[in-house]
Amino acid sequence: MRLILVGPPGAGKGTQAVHLASNFAIPHISTGDIFRFNIKGQTPLGLLAKSYMDKGDLVPDSVTNDMVKDRLTHPDTKNGFLLDGYPRNIEQADFLAAVLKENATPLDAVLEFSLENAEIIKRLSGRRVCRGCAAISHVEFDKPKVAGLCDACGGELYQRDDDKEEVIANRLAVYAQQTEPIINYYKKSGLLKTISAVGGVLDIAARAIDALK
Ligand code: AMP
Repeated sequence: MRLILVGPPGAGKGTQAVHLASNFAIPHISTGDIFRFNIKGQTPLGLLAKSYMDKGDLVPDSVTNDMVKDRLTHPDTKNGFLLDGYPRNIEQADFLAAVLKENATPLDAVLEFSLENAEIIKRLSGRRVCRGCAAISHVEFDKPKVAGLCDACGGELYQRDDDKEEVIANRLAVYAQQTEPIINYYKKSGLLKTISAVGGVLDIAARAIDALK
């Protein structure tokens, strides 16, 4: 299964990606996670990415495209992959199409998660991420058993800088202007499947797997 997840920030792509990757036994490739990993390791890529991410802007295509192209050469992608957070504009979608054509590995589906802006803001502002294992929780909707600590590994939970209110507005604007056009792009190619991102994590996961049958 070669799959792309698309949807506004906070729609639950990261959470659902974990379920879907496990269900289809494919690697979960999140460009946001790769950037955050590099920020944590203070690599040159991390320093560059941080300057864009902190503002809610996209990291330049020249950097992101090559990073994904390289990731798709890893042997674990042989039986498929799940791309979470990439492509995020038409240029990236065109670049990916060329890479997949060259590799003779066509996409199977593009799964869109749809959600209202008011709900997105509630989800993003309460979202917390584990410093240890990157698991996602929410201060209200998916409370950890012990406040501030990850249920999965006991690591410290933190709020992403780009989940702070002042950055959320820009991320939503960037999504509307740059990312939304790719929905029509994939609709035209007949690959798009859209599901509602409202409801419990397991309900949405079941809906997603059903849509991909
Ligand atoms: P995410 O974890 O997917 O919400 O991504 C967090 C941030 O990483 C985004 O707001 C961007 O600054 C950057 N980012 C992630 N994926 C991409 C991408 N495909 N193109 C450009 N920037 C990206």
